[in-house]
Amino acid sequence: MPAPDATYASPAAEKAWADHAILDFFYGHLPPAPRRMPMRELISTVLSHRTTHADEELAYDRMLAAYGDWPGVLAAPTAELAHAIRTTRWPDTQAPRIQEILRRIQTETGGAFDLDFLAEWPVDRGMAWLTDMPGIGLKTASLVLLFNYHKPVLPVDAHVHRVAQRVGFLGPKVSVEKAHSVLLALLPADGETLFNFHKHNYWHGQQICFFLKPNCPRCPLKGFCNYYQEHYGAATAEALAATPSQWDPAAWGKLPH
Ligand code: SF4
Repeated sequence: MPAPDATYASPAAEKAWADHAILDFFYGHLPPAPRRMPMRELISTVLSHRTTHADEELAYDRMLAAYGDWPGVLAAPTAELAHAIRTTRWPDTQAPRIQEILRRIQTETGGAFDLDFLAEWPVDRGMAWLTDMPGIGLKTASLVLLFNYHKPVLPVDAHVHRVAQRVGFLGPKVSVEKAHSVLLALLPADGETLFNFHKHNYWHGQQICFFLKPNCPRCPLKGFCNYYQEHYGAATAEALAATPSQWDPAAWGKLPH
């Protein structure tokens, strides 16, 4: 929990920090760790656009099975590559994008298909380089820089966006794109904190703060959540006392990745 005498730049910053502190305890603090290798994170996230996780994985596996490695994917006839990744939403768009991304990486490294040079670059330079590539937006660039290189950036997806707006530290009209910089300004510029904030709010949106029918009575954020107060009134002492304080896999199920 934040220290009682801590001072914050704004009420929104105080709420964002309280959200982080409570969810960090509720879900458990995580050491920053990549979920997959940098090249896989980058290309898989491109493939995942409006595509289910299972179909994204199928497209990735078929692509590598067909062409063996990144030089093979780059050299593949683009129409054939599109067929290999046909389980993605827009294979005819994604295939030339993937090849252009591989071409730019190869140019930057002098031949290798490796993103580790991003670890040495300042955050702004890495973000600018990644988002200049076709099909790479703020969320994908932030995921690679935060997950793989622990840079102080914050990926914002629909779940993080929804929780932040409902709790009330993000304005109702702030877009997902704009939220990347707005939320980042409320939080400490520390990769580990931002990694946990992202993961926990993402899980919260998936498991409790659903788009339809959020499970507010069981939510540990209800004591200061705007949405809760609008729909249920201020949380009573009894409601707070009856709220689970920690994630219980037996009661709630397994957390997503
Ligand atoms: S109280 Fe309800 S709306 Fe607020 S964060 Fe929790 S689940 Fe979401």
